[in-house]
Amino acid sequence: MKDLIITNKILNWYDINKRSLPWRNKVSQEKKQYFTLVSEFMLQQTQVATVIPYFNRFIKNIPNIEKLSKYNDRKLTKLWEGLGYYSRVRNLKKTAQIIVKKFNKKIPRDFYELKSLPGIGDYTASAISAIAFNKPIIPLDGNIERVLKRYLYLKKQSQIKKEFLQDQKKIFGTSTKRSSDYAQALMELGALICKPTNPTCNKCPLSNNCKAFKNKNFDLVKFKKINKETYYKLNVYKKNNQYL
Ligand code: SF4
Repeated sequence: MKDLIITNKILNWYDINKRSLPWRNKVSQEKKQYFTLVSEFMLQQTQVATVIPYFNRFIKNIPNIEKLSKYNDRKLTKLWEGLGYYSRVRNLKKTAQIIVKKFNKKIPRDFYELKSLPGIGDYTASAISAIAFNKPIIPLDGNIERVLKRYLYLKKQSQIKKEFLQDQKKIFGTSTKRSSDYAQALMELGALICKPTNPTCNKCPLSNNCKAFKNKNFDLVKFKKINKETYYKLNVYKKNNQYL
């Protein structure tokens, strides 16, 4: 019941406050899946505001997966110019070619089939599953992580490990009917309200139960990488009183 209240609060907030983004436009299911694939590749290392004009130009020139699979490499790189991390666009084309050949031009719905495609890891497979296929998955991106850490007031190193956060995100529950919107709603909440600095808690649908808000402490603890000691083996040879 508690989960349902959180879910509804966040979805209600999203319905009123979501940004109008080109990959959120109302289009056919097939187009939505293609838009999600392209936008998720672009968003892997780049901010939303930067991605928008690139996404629009990309879709105008390459409106579907089949065209992408055959698109000229030089022209493709030109469309990506300025976004950086060019391995993304190379992988995107390889992914399109596999989808055309192996999956009959349809983006696979199965998480593991998605993950088997070039350039798609755990996070991107989760995001595509949730956003394009309405699966009740919460993809743990930086925005959702931040909301979760503040909402639950996670400060210890053991609490900010990925595995721990993956487990804790169940606090947000799921929306079986609106999984796609719900995943985007949580990301949007982190991006617009629970920002890295100066979160606008007075506009946040979670403020009643948020522990960071209660404690008036919004600091985020960084994960400390433990430097593992490395050992090397060195063979020293001596001949005629000289080291070789
Ligand atoms: S109340 Fe404030 S700190 Fe808590 S989740 Fe909302 S914006 Fe973030």
